[in-house]
Amino acid sequence: VRKYEGKKVLVLGLAKSGYNAAKLLQKLGAEVTVNDKQNIEASEDAQALQREGIRVVSGGHPLSLLDDGFELVVKNPGIPYDNPIIAGALTRDIPIITEVELASEISEAELVAVTGSNGKTTTTTMINRMLNQERAVGESRNAGNIGIPASQVAQTLTKDDTLVMEVSSFMLLGITEFHPHIAVLTNIFSNHLDYHKTREAYVRAKMRITMNQTADDYFVVNFDDPEWRTLSQQSKAQVVPFSRIDVDESGAFERDGKLYWQNEYIMGAQDIKVPGDHNVENALAAIAVAKIEGKSNEAITHVLTTFSGVRHRTQYVLTAEDRQYYNDSKATDIEATQMALKGFKQPVVLLAGGLDRGYTFEKLVPSLRNHVKAVVLFGETAQLLAESAKQAGIEQIQFADTVVDAVPAAYKLSAPGDVILLSPANASWDQYPNFEVRGDEYIKAVEQLTGEKEEK
Ligand code: ADP
Repeated sequence: VRKYEGKKVLVLGLAKSGYNAAKLLQKLGAEVTVNDKQNIEASEDAQALQREGIRVVSGGHPLSLLDDGFELVVKNPGIPYDNPIIAGALTRDIPIITEVELASEISEAELVAVTGSNGKTTTTTMINRMLNQERAVGESRNAGNIGIPASQVAQTLTKDDTLVMEVSSFMLLGITEFHPHIAVLTNIFSNHLDYHKTREAYVRAKMRITMNQTADDYFVVNFDDPEWRTLSQQSKAQVVPFSRIDVDESGAFERDGKLYWQNEYIMGAQDIKVPGDHNVENALAAIAVAKIEGKSNEAITHVLTTFSGVRHRTQYVLTAEDRQYYNDSKATDIEATQMALKGFKQPVVLLAGGLDRGYTFEKLVPSLRNHVKAVVLFGETAQLLAESAKQAGIEQIQFADTVVDAVPAAYKLSAPGDVILLSPANASWDQYPNFEVRGDEYIKAVEQLTGEKEEK
């Protein structure tokens, strides 16, 4: 563990994680300066930090700051390494870390870390729930990219606890000693190439999750892609595969709609409450971790049959009059909506629309044709979506002013056995502050229409 007493530390970026990192460093005895590009001096957080004696510099990243003799930089994961102040710190050989490194340094809890292009939040949540089953001592807590600052949670944990962290590739670039006992790689697609520049650099960043692992640790990897399988050989940890397609029986796998751990049957894939093949993959990754931790099949099955999904991500809301309502407000692009639709075998009444980013929806036509019986459209892209719905042969096309108005309209178009799904394929900013508010309004409208409560 680094010594922080009297150390001069520069925290770059005052988001939630920067705020918590600054407070923690101050508590550890460091002399902390926070610097943000935005003018945040008047914000509540900045003022709270200043009251505790933390210096706040805002409204730009003045390079002269680097002349103040900082011995460590804790940077927000979103700030790229070619930012002049980061580049300047690098040329001065000042170590640069992210807040997750700090958290893992001070945490006594066992560390489980999940990375990948997709499925991180879902898998992290499933694992955390499983590890909270059948516990004799301590508790398991989620943190990291999931939206809970890790340095805040880490302070409250003891050696009896488990810290299940979701870590992005950006976070992993800023680790040095970060050492998960169990690391999970869900998959690698070509996301974030704007930040990492090349796919090779992106893959390298993801693989840092296992770089400090040893033979006493575990690396849980999706074996359905030959590239990921090969990558796992770089790890010094024990590799534990999970697979659905290119089945490897040494880990967690699906065969003929059934889930197994090695030679042991666990449960039917259709009994996983969150829909879709991608969630079977997430469940298999979580099963592998739970089994390494010695959890029973009952504990695993309990979680997978009751977990209704992370809020706003193909989240099961409730059933009324034999119609199942789902909230996938997080689907802010076409790919996410395609993925959600693929998860349903029942006819879907789809609620969609939102911010016009200048793209059209032809790519959505096959999914609409295969899964959707009716659409209710709202927001700036309603007309564009209607064209694609027509092309897909959908006859029932309606328009609504808002998500709230779309709910009763969708109900009128539905029949018993149908799914009513909000999966907008667009960002929310034409009508809502963010996708969370849009999803919350949808849930409220569903509760109002049905007189039932959201299942949690
Ligand atoms: P992340 O935290 O990596 O963004 P989430 O668990 O929040 O992932 O899921 C976000 C969306 O990504 C889901 O709504 C779904 O459309 C898609 N997704 C989830 N899991 C997977 C997976 N294993 N493979 C591919 N896509 C997935």
